[in-house]
Amino acid sequence: MKAIGTDGEVALANASLMAFESATQLRCFNHIQRNIKNKLQEIGVSKENKKIVISDIFGSLADTALRYAGLVDCLTNIEFDQKLETLQEKWDTLSPNFYMWFKRHYADNFKSHVIQSVRNVAGLSRSECYTTNDNESMNSALQKVCGKNKTLPSFLKELKDFIKTQENQISLAIVQQGHLRLKEEFQNLEVPISTWATWDPSERKKHISKVNNYIAKAKESCSRIYTPLEVTNGLSSSPDSCGITDVQENIIKDIWEKAERLLQKEFSIVSIPEYPDARRVSSLSNPKTCHFVEICRKTGNIKCECHLNKLHKICHHVLAVAENAGVSDDYLQWRQKKQLLSITSSKYHFAKISWAKTK
Ligand SMILES: [Zn+2]
Repeated sequence: MKAIGTDGEVALANASLMAFESATQLRCFNHIQRNIKNKLQEIGVSKENKKIVISDIFGSLADTALRYAGLVDCLTNIEFDQKLETLQEKWDTLSPNFYMWFKRHYADNFKSHVIQSVRNVAGLSRSECYTTNDNESMNSALQKVCGKNKTLPSFLKELKDFIKTQENQISLAIVQQGHLRLKEEFQNLEVPISTWATWDPSERKKHISKVNNYIAKAKESCSRIYTPLEVTNGLSSSPDSCGITDVQENIIKDIWEKAERLLQKEFSIVSIPEYPDARRVSSLSNPKTCHFVEICRKTGNIKCECHLNKLHKICHHVLAVAENAGVSDDYLQWRQKKQLLSITSSKYHFAKISWAKTK
């Protein structure tokens, strides 16, 4: 067995450890979160501060598909210890005594049973959390069907029947019969009953397995983790020293000013674990939208799909990312080369050449 998850009940955890020595032991996120919330309640932490501490631990949703990283997203024990240490001062202010309590009761627990690296070893995808929800809903369904006080053979028989009934319900939902339907996002897998009728058992089995795998995959891709990068103080270059002469002075000034604002605003630039050389940059004009900015280490170029960048091959998103990633010099050199190429290129508009020369 690869992994086994429990709600953390000591007897159950010990028994599963004894029975499956080499299996990764996971702990249910919901149970841990409930315990931590109870503790914060006990300390008398305000609702607002509670929310902050919980998101430091479990991460928080930026929008439907994105999540800011929390302690649970650490990839190594060292990273966990370091991250926890950086939280001490903040937590001591927000919720006195909580830091020590968490460290004593949960630090080792997290490193052995909770953080992302452990979950990945257990076979869960990158950011997927572990809960006992599925088991618990299965438990309650089974209890309803089988009742209590069964002998093992009769329980197993009823369990088999129960599984068959569920499989049957999936088949019925695929052909839009019975009382259950596939969720909207899976409705492309529905099959007209007239077609289903012409399929032999192996074809049907294949399609059912496709439906099951599809559901598992959708669950996996639901959230990408973003790590906020450190807020930096400002730009190491200035509009006067940047060496860009093919863009109007006032536009350059505006770009520098906005880049500075991005750098000083918390959460406006975040890293994306799947793409180490990419950043997600919040839009200054509309905080609900963002730009995907990509660093090309080979050429020095940094790409952004925004309108400004399309026009001028530079924008405040790119400039702020260059500074944040420490590649500002490389980027500005790339940008200067680009303007020389543009000026010597025969396709370039004459008016712009003369403007560049007279500047
Ligand atoms: Zn941009």
